[in-house]
Amino acid sequence: ENLANKIAAGEVIERPASVVKELLENAIDAAATQITVKIEESGLKSIEIIDNGEGIARDEVALALKRHATSKIKDVDDLFRIRTLGFRGEALPSIASVSELTINTAVADNGDESGTLLIAKGGIIIQNDAAPKRVGTRIKVENLFYNTPARLKYIKSLQAELSHITDIINRLSLAHSEVAFTLINDGREMMKTAGTGDLRQAIAGVYGISTAKKMLAISNSDLDFEVSGYVSLPELTRANRNYITILLNGRYIKNFLINRAIVDGYGSKLMVGRFPLAVIDIKIDPFLADVNVHPTKQEVRISKERELMLLITRAISQTLQPQTL
Ligand code: ADP
Ligand code: MG
Repeated sequence: ENLANKIAAGEVIERPASVVKELLENAIDAAATQITVKIEESGLKSIEIIDNGEGIARDEVALALKRHATSKIKDVDDLFRIRTLGFRGEALPSIASVSELTINTAVADNGDESGTLLIAKGGIIIQNDAAPKRVGTRIKVENLFYNTPARLKYIKSLQAELSHITDIINRLSLAHSEVAFTLINDGREMMKTAGTGDLRQAIAGVYGISTAKKMLAISNSDLDFEVSGYVSLPELTRANRNYITILLNGRYIKNFLINRAIVDGYGSKLMVGRFPLAVIDIKIDPFLADVNVHPTKQEVRISKERELMLLITRAISQTLQPQTL
């Protein structure tokens, strides 16, 4: 089983940012409203995620490290649940198999007097004791890939790893404006969001207040789609598309055509080779999305794509140029 976990880790856990992504998604799934991420040396030395979610019951902590042990009832109607089915209950065992993992967790009220402190090394549990009760979960991952030297070698630069991590946290912060995220790297606070549920405030946390002030609200809808969000004024641009975030039913996705629809909304207002900042939130009937794509990639195929593109392009062009009929 430990070998299987290590093999699965090779697929799911590519780099420190993959660990951050899986642990953050677990914290969000556990209904946390405050999540702090502390990393050292871009996550290679340690990644610590502290949440105020519902916690894991004393007798279920060890179970969470077993493959395919998921406490989550997946709603088959939810497209993103379907998309992640392949990795049900694989993240924690995978991470544990290639690191030193400490879980400190407690649930609010079910008669448990105490929480749990569990320590595993290379996937082997070496300690599993009762611990002082602090509701929520703190998971620390140390010495990632210490037992998979080939993987470790593939990690080239700390700067690149850090930017992968900030990218994950930024996108999740924009997708979950109701959660307050904090990122601390080597003791220094890198970003912090308010967690008020207000998207513009989440944008302020991620990209800064002055940037958020230069964003315009957009909205447009028809029978199939509901589009809302914020786009930057034409004078606020970037040299690449990384500052465009597309959310489909609350989940971050990548979609080339939607990127193009956003740029088209600016028409000639945008210089060639420049891209706006944008957070576009699309609500769609799950039946219109084909999620039969590799689960670690965030690509989704959408029916009536042309219709959606037009809706987005128009939402933006009308906001930038309200006098146009
Ligand atoms: P999955 O998320 O697909 O269920 P994981 O391996 O990521 O699988 O997690 C296994 C289980 O551990 C989860 O189903 C959940 O019960 C529990 N768990 C993990 N992280 C947390 C957390 N931060 N708060 C509460 N429960 C958690
Ligand atoms: Mg998970």
